[in-house]
Amino acid sequence: MPADALIGLAALVAAIFFFAGRRQRARQYPLPDRSPLDAGDLLEDRLGWLARLSPAQRERFGEQVQRFLREKRFVGCGGLEVTDEMRLLVAGMASLLVLRPGAEPFPQLREVLLYPGPFLVPVTEPDEFGLVPDEPDERIGESWQGDRVILSWPDVEAGLDGDEVNVVVHEFAHQLDDDNGAGDGAPRLADYGEWSEVMQTEFERLRRHRRPRVLDPYGAESPAEFFGVVSEAFFQRGPELARHHARLYALLRDYYGFETA
Ligand SMILES: [Zn+2]
Repeated sequence: MPADALIGLAALVAAIFFFAGRRQRARQYPLPDRSPLDAGDLLEDRLGWLARLSPAQRERFGEQVQRFLREKRFVGCGGLEVTDEMRLLVAGMASLLVLRPGAEPFPQLREVLLYPGPFLVPVTEPDEFGLVPDEPDERIGESWQGDRVILSWPDVEAGLDGDEVNVVVHEFAHQLDDDNGAGDGAPRLADYGEWSEVMQTEFERLRRHRRPRVLDPYGAESPAEFFGVVSEAFFQRGPELARHHARLYALLRDYYGFETA
């Protein structure tokens, strides 16, 4: 897709969310294969979380999607052709993580790579026995510290359709975590006191549990994976998270800025 068409798409999203109720205005930014109404409808339709936002947050959402589409490059891999719809939905889902006042939309990120399914990654880290397996690892998503997020498109869609796994939330939570350098399970915050206390308590709780009810056991791997996993639970299983992990839910609600329960 040529750069000017992509800027057109970004401007279009801005127009829809900035000038809600003035949709005529949006028609100044036509797209070759999608009318302004379609783009707005697509986001409303697939991102149920939008109904939870205040008018100010919706305006902010529009700004963040616009910046995301303008600043990040999408690359189709493994034969996948990236469509406008894919760009819009990934940008929209990721932008729901950065509605806090003053939040930058993933400043280090340059590229989003999309695959037509799970992809294989060579394993370089030794396991608990000090062995490096010969077989590559199958992944549905990866976040590289700094500049890149890699996603399996069918798994992106599954998350939007309500699956417990939301690979966009998981990988972009890693981006938020890495943004302050450490990758230690804490994003950039004004005050780490309550965050550390609640996250530490809940992390220990997950490590002790054999069959956790709400949280994916994978979160027990490390504080960084814990932040990814609890963010997924916040977006995908808000009511259950609020019921069984009330303090964790409240912490994430205050951080992301809206209710999911
Ligand atoms: Zn992870």
